[in-house]
Amino acid sequence: MRSKLIVGNWKMNGSHDLIENFYQSFSLPFDEVDLEVVICPPNVFITTMQNLFEGSGILIGAQNVHSENNGAFTGETSVSLLRECGVNWCIVGHSERREHFGDTDEIISRKMEILIRHKIRPILCVGETLEQRESLSFEEVVVKQLRVGLSKINNKDLHKCVIAYEPVWAIGTGITAEPKQAEYMHKIIRKELLSISSRENAKKIKILYGGSVNPDNVGSLINIKEIDGALIGGASLIPSSFQKIIEYY
Ligand code: PEP
Repeated sequence: MRSKLIVGNWKMNGSHDLIENFYQSFSLPFDEVDLEVVICPPNVFITTMQNLFEGSGILIGAQNVHSENNGAFTGETSVSLLRECGVNWCIVGHSERREHFGDTDEIISRKMEILIRHKIRPILCVGETLEQRESLSFEEVVVKQLRVGLSKINNKDLHKCVIAYEPVWAIGTGITAEPKQAEYMHKIIRKELLSISSRENAKKIKILYGGSVNPDNVGSLINIKEIDGALIGGASLIPSSFQKIIEYY
């Protein structure tokens, strides 16, 4: 049985007030060993949040990493810097990075490799655009993102990776994939994982769903056996919404 994972992606949002608000009003509802909660704030807040949430059960992750370990890359953050800040999780290949910052599957595969090498667990985002869904190439697109994204990871390390299926047309749009659509794609992803890894390792890899998850629709997604948790953008910026989502699990 895979344990559940909920990841909040604050993107380029947040403030000291929001952090304080979370600290005051948000808590894990129980000593739940089967649920992990990670919040990925902008990098400038990582240390503050690490210190504040230490011992709370809420872990702090990053939204991105550079593919090189150090050097003249002004404005970027390396894996060693994330380790310095005590980060254990990092989102990789979010569709906004693919669209606006030139993150190709090849670059993403290098980020995946460097994270695993430095013992930070990557959350690899895959998902098709609306155009790709409508032209029926969505399975092929997602399988390629997965295959190339994981291509530099050894079989023995694959279970440390998490996959987030995030249809691009569902991100920040208020449109969630139908439970059947999400279930179908999660099965395609699992099948692909089984083809590139040993059965034992492939079965351990968590697959999250992401795309406009909120307290009103999370109930229809969590009952799907193939969905091991959620990657949440907008609703993770509202402590009461994030709390309600977690209480479903
Ligand atoms: C995301 O940013 O990964 C995401 C799923 O955003 P939202 O929940 O706002 O759609």
